[in-house]
Amino acid sequence: MEEQFYEKLILIIPKERVRLKERMEYHTSLHIGGEADYLVMPTSVEEVKEVVALCKRMNMPYYIMGNGSNLLVSDSGYRGLIVKLGEDYSQIVVNEEKHLITAQAGVLLSKLASVAAKHSLTGFEFASGIPGTLGGAVTMNAGAYDGEMKQCLTLARVLDEEGNVLELSYDKLELGYRTSILQKKNYVLLEAEIQLSIGDQQAIYQKMNDLNSQRREKQPLDQYSAGSTFKRPQGYFAGKLIHDAGLRGYQVGGAAVSEKHCGFVINKDRATAEEFITVVNDVIRIVEEKFGVRLEPEVKFLGEFHNIVV
Ligand SMILES: Cc1cc2nc3c(=O)[nH]c(=O)nc-3n(C[C@H](O)[C@H](O)[C@H](O)COP(=O)(O)OP(=O)(O)OC[C@H]3O[C@@H](n4cnc5c(N)ncnc54)[C@H](O)[C@@H]3O)c2cc1C
Repeated sequence: MEEQFYEKLILIIPKERVRLKERMEYHTSLHIGGEADYLVMPTSVEEVKEVVALCKRMNMPYYIMGNGSNLLVSDSGYRGLIVKLGEDYSQIVVNEEKHLITAQAGVLLSKLASVAAKHSLTGFEFASGIPGTLGGAVTMNAGAYDGEMKQCLTLARVLDEEGNVLELSYDKLELGYRTSILQKKNYVLLEAEIQLSIGDQQAIYQKMNDLNSQRREKQPLDQYSAGSTFKRPQGYFAGKLIHDAGLRGYQVGGAAVSEKHCGFVINKDRATAEEFITVVNDVIRIVEEKFGVRLEPEVKFLGEFHNIVV
């Protein structure tokens, strides 16, 4: 069965873009995660469609990822196939007249922001320091510094559960705080369009620089993390609650609450996924006991964990 699957898989995706028993620590910003049975890197819509169809036909679990900057993979890895939509799937087309950029899901937001700036297009500066792909950002409705994908996204081309490619206009995307229809319906983002406007190029570069300096000043960018570990609870800031609960620097094994920004749980020293999740659980429990506010993880979990998030 395994062999049969592999033989069929390499008819869809050439061997050089198929990895077997791939350690997920190499594919996540947390640098945590055991082996995935298969990891493939498609370059076209057809490859994405066909590989998903094959998984369904042969009952192979599959998971879509981008740059792995919001992902904790378990120590035992993932029993199934990971479709990584990254560098190999990252074409960008700029429509100068309409101030519109169309890009494939795997393009990095930093790259997209720099292309926008090169064309003097404003409205995407907020995303330049978010280390994810367009696919991850649309799915999560990523945002920072008063900007979010919701403000510039006009259209998403997605693959639905039945293998159809759908075009979803803005009003169908149900973009909310770190959520979208893609998460709810398990759609795969193939391509998206963002609408920007013409601006002053120097001001665009200046804004990106300012925002990125703010990031460097406030966030532990020299350590492995998945960004903010928790969603922002209404009326509060997760980092402040965690700090005020006395959890700054709280550590279990190699995983710890960052001393620089308490909203970040970091992989300080070769942390395991179980240690990371233990810190997450402890933070949720202690903050709730002290302040009656229940934090919810923003980070996505993949694989099997002994220690389930409380
Ligand atoms: C240092 C640091 C700073 C960060 N700062 C911010 C910030 O300011 N704002 C913010 O919002 N986030 C931030 N993040 C978190 C992260 O970068 C974003 O959530 C980003 O959008 C995730 O994109 P990704 O490609 O890495 O997605 P992944 O981590 O690979 O995946 C995240 C989720 O998206 C899904 N997904 C990915 N690609 C697709 C696709 N093509 N189709 C369907 N589903 C898909 C995955 O299944 C998963 O559920 C930060 C992370 C780090 C490490």
